[in-house]
Amino acid sequence: MNFSFDRLQLDEDLLNNLQTLGYQSMTPIQKSSLPPVLKGADVIAQAKTGSGKTAAFGLGLLQKLEVKRYRVQSLVLCPTRELADQVARELRRLARARHNVKILTLCGGMPFGPQVGSLEHGAHIVAGTPGRIEEHLRKRTLKTGEINTLVLDEADRMLDMGFQDSLDAIVSCLPRERQTLLFSATYPEQIQALAKRVTINPVMVKVESTHDAKSIRQHFYNFGQSKHRMTALRLLLLKLRPTSALVFCNTKRESDEVADELRSHGLEALALHGDLEQRERDQVLVRFANRSVSVLVATDVAARGLDIESLDAVINYHMARDPEVHVHRIGRTGRAGSKGLACTLFSEKEHYKVERLENYLDQSIEPEKLPPFSLLEKPAYKPPMATLQIDGGRKQKVRPGDLLGALTGENGIAGKQVGKINVFDQCAYVAVSRDAARHALRKLRDGKIKGRSFRARRIS
Ligand code: ADP
Ligand code: MG
Repeated sequence: MNFSFDRLQLDEDLLNNLQTLGYQSMTPIQKSSLPPVLKGADVIAQAKTGSGKTAAFGLGLLQKLEVKRYRVQSLVLCPTRELADQVARELRRLARARHNVKILTLCGGMPFGPQVGSLEHGAHIVAGTPGRIEEHLRKRTLKTGEINTLVLDEADRMLDMGFQDSLDAIVSCLPRERQTLLFSATYPEQIQALAKRVTINPVMVKVESTHDAKSIRQHFYNFGQSKHRMTALRLLLLKLRPTSALVFCNTKRESDEVADELRSHGLEALALHGDLEQRERDQVLVRFANRSVSVLVATDVAARGLDIESLDAVINYHMARDPEVHVHRIGRTGRAGSKGLACTLFSEKEHYKVERLENYLDQSIEPEKLPPFSLLEKPAYKPPMATLQIDGGRKQKVRPGDLLGALTGENGIAGKQVGKINVFDQCAYVAVSRDAARHALRKLRDGKIKGRSFRARRIS
């Protein structure tokens, strides 16, 4: 069967660009939603993280965008700033063939004034979080008169996060005559009600999870009494030695405690939760994605929208309250064809949750034995990379190439020892092989970048 994009009513330049991006065939959600999206229908699509939703709606937005009309024509609402940033990034990639398409993100936690300035400069597509978008509408800094497409991305999560009222307020400001595309991983009643309010004659699209139980190896461990939970987690980590593992907890406080405890045993672990300031959150995500932190401990809400290419393992420190959430959690491992690994810990008292999951999955669960306690005596394993932080960023005109140059220049380290480079407004992070970290730090401190010296330090 041919699932190539050229079956679609897409302009040549968009199609060619997809080829450049290496998108050879449509993902299942793209295959089923792009035809109605391109026809202009309202669409409700049930699809999970990593399924290629952005292109599923993004190509629709871009195909009908009138670049010459310098007005906001599409509004994309996302639950978090990271997700809005990801959507904007992916839209920019998809729009590369179209000159001068202006895509703006409007999210909370960022200063309001500059956003007003950017809006005054003009934009075609706005991606943002509901709270901040609502604020722009209230202050009339975002004009809605020419918006012809509304996208609700990860709608279930937006409702979980309490954005219901904001969403309704936003929708009431938009022209009635518009196309509305609603994407959601789950489809509970609340979402059905929302869909009813915001769409007209929608086409319903549902794509079965690409991570069916078979592509993920699931292991379950009964550790007995609650007090052994932490030891059980350490044993698993020491046995599996994952470069990137996501550990799920049920509360923020527990995430913090687990990360602290793992660090005290020499593992590179960090917690991710909503109480972090944006800057701290960015830093945590950078360090995990660049493989200098091997364990990320998070709650379901905090982990939403993480776009880590390869997660070696998902570990349920506490079982999800709901089987559907369990399936969603473990679906994050083993992306892109590689087999995923999911480990779930449960105590004697939580046995009923395992039974509930057995019913939901319609398969029996056989708990396994934990790895031997002798592992606890061995030193902790280390991730492959280290992160160096530089006190200079976009505002100082520092670009990734400058950092790479400074590191690999005369007597520098080898290019292949340099990993991901992330540049933010006021700072930058470079991942380097652990064994090259000292040398790399010296190069950054002693050398000049853009003719200036910047302070730099190793942070993991
Ligand atoms: P979602 O929003 O569903 O979580 P994204 O839209 O962010 O997923 O896409 C996930 C990843 O898959 C991105 O890195 C994107 O570039 C890539 N991708 C999307 N569609 C395709 C495709 N048809 N072929 C190859 N890669 C794709
Ligand atoms: Mg997405």
